Amino acid sequence: MKQRARVGLLGGTLDPMHLGHVETARGAMKALALDQVIVLPARVPPHRAGEPMASPFHRFAMAALCAADHDWMTVSDDELQAPGPSFTAATLERLLAAGYDRSQLFFITGADAFAEIETWHRYPDVLKLANFAVVSRPRWPVGDLAARLPGLADRFVTAAATPRGSGTAIFLVDARTPDVSSTDIRRRLSGAQSVDGLVCPAVLRHITRHHLYDSGARAGVANELHGQD
Ligand code: ATP
Ligand code: MG
Repeated sequence: MKQRARVGLLGGTLDPMHLGHVETARGAMKALALDQVIVLPARVPPHRAGEPMASPFHRFAMAALCAADHDWMTVSDDELQAPGPSFTAATLERLLAAGYDRSQLFFITGADAFAEIETWHRYPDVLKLANFAVVSRPRWPVGDLAARLPGLADRFVTAAATPRGSGTAIFLVDARTPDVSSTDIRRRLSGAQSVDGLVCPAVLRHITRHHLYDSGARAGVANELHGQD
């Protein structure tokens, strides 16, 4: 059975999910007439460089709280359930094995993340597993990508174009997204600065209640209950 709905996938560490993610997903959805967007918090094994500050459980909870505000957005635990680090190629292969149709799947990234695509696991084959929807980010216009990635330039198409053949395409979506990053949010919170208007209200309540990004916080407190050292 092949699925008919056009499905966007937004992956990331999401530490935490913020309104930049929502607007990136919305921009891709509008430009490419997607029916829904599935948010996929990534699994980052402990003790790796750049390990997230919030646990996978809290990152999933925040994504779910944010998705609950939008009827076109859902959240999947697929990458958190799979062992080892999350690689997009493996995620897409699981979705294809589950019956998703690659011509109807759109992996959404910001232009900053896509600029690193040549370093991704199983590049360039990963580009054959789904369409890609690359969305502008402040200081990262999609128009600059052809110069950064000359080897891919002839595969870029605008969102309005209908790609030829049955292959997958790399769509460039020139949407305006807010100038916010998870790094900026963590930095503000550790300095007790406001992040009002940068994250979904329910996400902000969750962060505050669980002290996820307080100065000095290591957000795994739930792992340290029951009198453990
Ligand atoms: P960090 O600062 O921790 O890297 P981030 O804000 O970049 O966090 P990620 O979880 O790394 O968030 O990003 C997930 C995906 O969302 C990436 O593809 C990234 O490019 C994209 N993204 C995040 N924020 C924006 C934004 N404001 N505009 C466009 N794309 C964005
Ligand atoms: Mg990032």
